[in-house]
Amino acid sequence: MRVAKHWVVVGLDNGGTSNNATVLDSQGRFLVDRLVENASFVLDGPEAALNALVSAFQSVLALTGTDRRAVRAVGLDTPGPTSADGVISSKGSTNFSEPAWRGFDVRSRLEERLQLPVVYNNDGNAAAVYAHYQFFGRQAADQSSVSVIVGTGLGAGVIVAGQVVRGVAGMAGELGHVHIPMAGLLEDDQPLPECNCGFTGDAESVASLKGIEKNLLPYWLRRYPDHDLNDMASTAQAAKLVRSYAEQNDPMALSILNQQAVALGRLFTIIANFTDPTAYFLGGGVVETTARLQKWFLTTTRKNTELREEQRRLSTLTLVPDLDMAGARGSAIAALVSLQEPVVVSLIDDITDSTPTRYSQL
Ligand SMILES: [Zn+2]
Repeated sequence: MRVAKHWVVVGLDNGGTSNNATVLDSQGRFLVDRLVENASFVLDGPEAALNALVSAFQSVLALTGTDRRAVRAVGLDTPGPTSADGVISSKGSTNFSEPAWRGFDVRSRLEERLQLPVVYNNDGNAAAVYAHYQFFGRQAADQSSVSVIVGTGLGAGVIVAGQVVRGVAGMAGELGHVHIPMAGLLEDDQPLPECNCGFTGDAESVASLKGIEKNLLPYWLRRYPDHDLNDMASTAQAAKLVRSYAEQNDPMALSILNQQAVALGRLFTIIANFTDPTAYFLGGGVVETTARLQKWFLTTTRKNTELREEQRRLSTLTLVPDLDMAGARGSAIAALVSLQEPVVVSLIDDITDSTPTRYSQL
């Protein structure tokens, strides 16, 4: 644990069950090197959740021995859909199901409670900010990147010249709902995959845990009627086990992950033609696995990314670092950037064991 010698910003990452908090000092150093969590109470509605955020803020200051007067700004992220400045969607969402959340301006309300400027990002964008600044360091303001996180859904963030692309309604960078070509990805008799958003054949309908549960696993289990996973009580439970079967070289599980890697490669191809970034970051369950399976997954993704020779030479595919802390850390960096301080992030410890792989090296 470090003690702040300078003024600081605080990062608060709000999730469905917990908040994660961090402190970043004006020199670009994180004062905590691990998850600092408390319960988020989002299901109890906005007032309970605001209290929990204030409590997370106070706890992380106490933990790091930081004087509240040293805090100049706070970064906040939550799951979407939200507006670019932190107003929860009028339709609510999975995380914000309590009716009082609809249209709730979480950023302004936290600002009132803390009496400090609060800078908002959705969770995909906050993780993308962290990956970007951690990777590029001093060059961050000049570089472009894209981050894709394969979890229950497919989260993402697009950064161009150091700036998060937010869009007019805050919906830019929602790469999970970008349509990708399905020809050659699906088997001849495989139904078109459906996404929770109502689209068919978008990236999330294949490359997410929901996509496995709803689309890929039901199809592949029919192809493998004797597979153990046919005996599970629910497809939701079975979907969570696919990765561990793939680690054991199970052919059905590998077919499922192969379709996900192809989908991600096709998504990266679209991005390559859209913002042509220097770095493609990939994170989430699909790459939190054995070194061997991770390498196979990244290589398969790469093989299905159609880059021009110049792009291949200049760009890198690597992992989102420290994913569990990326939201809080990215939020803190966004708060520091908002104060127009040049940010150089010096990592306390490098948790990831992956070395970046140039596209040209794969
Ligand atoms: Zn979708």
